[in-house]
Amino acid sequence: QDSRKYTGIVEDCCCDYETVDSINEEVLHPLLQELVTTTFFRYFKVKLWCDCPFWLDDGMCRLRDCSVCECPESEFPEPFRKPFHLGLPSDDLVCQEGKPQATVDRTLDSKAFRGWIEIDNPWTNDDETDNAEMTYVNLQLNPERYTGYAGPSARRIWDAIYAENCPKYPSGEFCQEKRVLYKLISGLHSSISIHIAADYLNDEATNLWGQNLELMFDRVLRYPDRVRNLYFTYLFVLRAVTKAADYLEQAEYDTGNNSEDLKTQSLMRQLLYNPKLQASCPLPFDEAKLWQGQSGPELKQQIQKQFRNISALMDCVGCEKCRLWGKLQVLGLGTALKILFSVDGQNNLDQPLQLQRNEVIALVNLLNRLSESVKLIHEMGPSVEKIMEGQ
Ligand code: FAD
Repeated sequence: QDSRKYTGIVEDCCCDYETVDSINEEVLHPLLQELVTTTFFRYFKVKLWCDCPFWLDDGMCRLRDCSVCECPESEFPEPFRKPFHLGLPSDDLVCQEGKPQATVDRTLDSKAFRGWIEIDNPWTNDDETDNAEMTYVNLQLNPERYTGYAGPSARRIWDAIYAENCPKYPSGEFCQEKRVLYKLISGLHSSISIHIAADYLNDEATNLWGQNLELMFDRVLRYPDRVRNLYFTYLFVLRAVTKAADYLEQAEYDTGNNSEDLKTQSLMRQLLYNPKLQASCPLPFDEAKLWQGQSGPELKQQIQKQFRNISALMDCVGCEKCRLWGKLQVLGLGTALKILFSVDGQNNLDQPLQLQRNEVIALVNLLNRLSESVKLIHEMGPSVEKIMEGQ
């Protein structure tokens, strides 16, 4: 007897929940877990300065002295003002820098990271050019988990993202393209919340880390649409990775350690041309259905602009480690969007696909994070719901 809560095809995708869970657990999750520990994939370059473009003038959001990040509402550009009219006193807008669990470990030198090409991503805001402001981080030393970042500072970022950039689509709204952006962000948000709940500081005094089932339930499981959006985002990113398979197979994974680089290439091939995936879910998401209408190009530009705003908002995140993972995952989503939507109205490529090294790292690490969240929900969801609903 099937006791699954989520059945059938994942909305707007091409595979069903059962298949996603089984390929994730049997194939993709183990592969991705290994891949992200390789030298190539574990280092990420990122500008961690908090040069928040939406309250720029005072220059106060610099990381070093960002213990308090007062951002007077009058300095927000018009589109970002509205969500914060809701009576948030400006003194409450405090960055949560300084907490040990929120700090990024930077023990790495820049030689570990060799540049690929530098090319602009129209979907994201960051300039990826190497310069002195770039920090190179070892992601394995900086897991995405609970940091203590919460309250109005965190809230206003999510509010700005949802209220201004991807308003929840009204029921009956038919524009699939607009729904895609909302669902991607909501799916990412679910994934972040799942990671916070799965790796939570339960007792600060004794530094005891563990799971927080109540949080997992309250923020994600009790809202079925948030769970569905997570599966959607996972399939969307998976489709981007497999669509770029030929490019990614040929890419340069050289880090100077021959045997490890061969292993990285082999793992990539297993991910990109996986027989089980090809047999059970050959087209995780069908991007060819989008941008078909007359307003296609205009709509794409509008959504691209909205996504760039979301990307820029990551510089306003008032916690270093959250900013690191926020930037990485938004760059990963931007890379997926670039791969899937660099086409004109006739579905011809705008230009040959070119990816930066950092984009590939972000894409694969994002897929891994989503894969972990899907696994956690599948394995723990039913029992957590039972416990919480029984209370
Ligand atoms: P929030 O998660 O802040 O949610 C705000 C509101 O958004 C909710 O009330 C709800 O209306 C809506 N919402 C929530 N989830 C969804 C969803 N899936 N789909 C649609 N709507 C939703 N904290 C950490 O401890 N570690 C981190 O690594 C971390 N990374 C972050 C990265 C970014 C980019 C941001 C903006 C915040 C991050 N935070 C992190 C903070 C964390 O996401 C929460 O904001 C914080 O824990 C407070 O949670 P909350 O209960 O107020 O709800």
